[in-house]
Amino acid sequence: MTESAQAGRGNSNDHVRRHNLSVILGLVHRSRGLSRSQLTRQTGLNRSTVAALVAELVDRELVVEAEPDSSNQVGRPSPMVRPHPRAVGIAINPEIDAVTIGVIGLGGTVLRRIRQATGHPPTVGEAVGISAGAIEAMRGELDSYSIVGIGVAVPGLVRTQDGLVRLAPHLGWEDEPFADLLREATGYPVLAANDAHLGVLAESTFGAGRGVTDMIYLNGGASGIGGGIIAAGSPLGGVAGYAGELGHTQVNSAGIVCHCGAVGCLETEVRRERLLALLGLTDADADQFEAALVASTDPAVLDEVHRQLGFLAVALRNAINTLNPELIVLGGFLGSLYEVAPEHLDELLATQPLKASRESVRVTRAELGHDLLMIGAGELAFEPLIADPAGFALAQRE
Ligand SMILES: [Zn+2]
Repeated sequence: MTESAQAGRGNSNDHVRRHNLSVILGLVHRSRGLSRSQLTRQTGLNRSTVAALVAELVDRELVVEAEPDSSNQVGRPSPMVRPHPRAVGIAINPEIDAVTIGVIGLGGTVLRRIRQATGHPPTVGEAVGISAGAIEAMRGELDSYSIVGIGVAVPGLVRTQDGLVRLAPHLGWEDEPFADLLREATGYPVLAANDAHLGVLAESTFGAGRGVTDMIYLNGGASGIGGGIIAAGSPLGGVAGYAGELGHTQVNSAGIVCHCGAVGCLETEVRRERLLALLGLTDADADQFEAALVASTDPAVLDEVHRQLGFLAVALRNAINTLNPELIVLGGFLGSLYEVAPEHLDELLATQPLKASRESVRVTRAELGHDLLMIGAGELAFEPLIADPAGFALAQRE
């Protein structure tokens, strides 16, 4: 990329410097480390400018420089620039049966993951209490880190602007100021967003969607189906952050009424619990569920897999025709369905969407597994820091 395309020019030296610090820190974060000469190439900035910017990020304890591995290089080796191991964000994911709390390093590395089972959908007060308690319990460990803030992945509609949970139907939360309450309880800045939006961000930065500018992520969870969209390289949120709800596109006009009030939504037809019942299981984690599904020789199970993939194909057809993506990433139990009968979904998608759009689309499974939402929520926590590393430090001091 050229300097004008990525490193940018501003109307003052300070503005340009701050912007370029952001570009460099973003590249180091997404790559989890690259050489100073790669930074020079990718930003189009000159070598001494990159050296000065990296030195400033080292001073701010956001990156570290290490001697290069010179064993198999031609020419003068260039120092490696890596995310600073002490710069971390905290990730939180309230779900219907647990609250998961993680410590995520810059570069999207999951350093700690604690799952606090609740046995029931936690109330907002319980989720705040469990999160703040877990952070307090890690206090000794956390004191050795520099915490940039908290990112929360919510299974529901979240207003981008202030982290208000408008509706998390399976948690029973409506118009709950979760981000504000967590900020008051912990003293850290808190950002919250829809879980599938953070899933697509994580897969696009560190997983199956690396380098892809147009992708759709669809996740099947215990409580429903969430979606996230990256269009032209940017997350698609809509005017307030509610875009991407592909779980509520209609796939069966003769279907049942969904909890959202509409008839025949994707998430009324494609359900993990129906497969669990056919498999004779009452509860299973993602790995146990997939193992049982793959091992099953019961024709009724395969029929149900085909039936659900058929409805999934209807939703994907609409999304492909609307958004012309390059990649569709299936997470959660949707990935397991695809694992069992990939040819069935591929065949439907090879015929149903418009030819021009279906020619360029690929389907794959999510890569980040258990860490997906922790990494995604971490991305949210790091966003303000990466957007303006120098300004972020100033804001922290106020
Ligand atoms: Zn619905």
